[in-house]
Amino acid sequence: MNNTQKISFIGAGNMSKAIISGLVDKGYLPTNIMASNPSAGKLDALKDTLGIHTTHNNQEAIDFADVVMLSVKPHLMHSVCAGFTLHNLDTLFVSIAAGLTVKRLREFLPENAHIVRVMPNTPSAIGLGMSGIYATSDITDSQVHLVEQIMQSVGKTVVVKTEDDINTVIAAAGSSPAYFFLIAEVMQRAAIDMGMDKTSARTLVEQAMLGSASLMQKTPELELSQLRAQVTSKGGTTAKAVESLQQDNIDKIFARAMQAAVARAKEMS
Ligand code: NAP
Repeated sequence: MNNTQKISFIGAGNMSKAIISGLVDKGYLPTNIMASNPSAGKLDALKDTLGIHTTHNNQEAIDFADVVMLSVKPHLMHSVCAGFTLHNLDTLFVSIAAGLTVKRLREFLPENAHIVRVMPNTPSAIGLGMSGIYATSDITDSQVHLVEQIMQSVGKTVVVKTEDDINTVIAAAGSSPAYFFLIAEVMQRAAIDMGMDKTSARTLVEQAMLGSASLMQKTPELELSQLRAQVTSKGGTTAKAVESLQQDNIDKIFARAMQAAVARAKEMS
């Protein structure tokens, strides 16, 4: 990765910590990174463990950076960003806040600010994140590439074409770890009800999920339906279970859940 761009993080919470750790882990110069946060504890930890610059002054972080990662909670973004002064007009603002559109961000970021939206997810904390990236038409290819590189330090990225697509990213990847945890919970409970102890039930479900995800990644040439067919012998146990899920309308259940996530993202924007 180009190690010369300076990157600031406004807000040093969970997501910033994950991305900063990922960057330093991948060899990004810690002295080219700054984090700004009101309370000292998180900053001290980042400074001590990763060697980055820290400040309590957001404007100092803006002045330091070529890329500013806006990483505070969405409801705070307005009050945090209002009053920023831009000395370097090429500064790139990357918002990872769920639900805040570029139009909304323009209302409180400096005039003519260059804005990119990123939607990451929690597995970023262990380097297995999935981030969607949306850039407005004034953003150059090299700026998009830089944002891709930053987010690839904690996982995979897709660049989407429209801002609406970010809502699909939210439904399919931002929120979906919770769907998978819910499925795991439900399956663990069912296994316990069948007489399995709690720890073994969790191991069974967890490893089956991990193995299935790895199998998907390692066999991109196979459609998901083909992977499913490989485990499903005619008239066998899997066939019976899948038939039961389909009779209970699993397609509709997930389509409705994802539509609900998109609808909420639109309400929040
Ligand atoms: P978080 O852990 O609560 O971090 C937010 C940080 O912002 C906190 O450290 C907070 O500091 C700091 N902050 C508050 N006021 C500030 C100010 N005036 N100036 C500078 N920093 C300030 O939240 P998070 O989970 O990292 O989420 C950050 C953003 O990522 C949110 O917009 C969220 O929507 C987005 N996001 C998160 C996830 C996720 O899975 N976590 C996924 C996608 C998107 P104090 O604690 O000291 O108050």
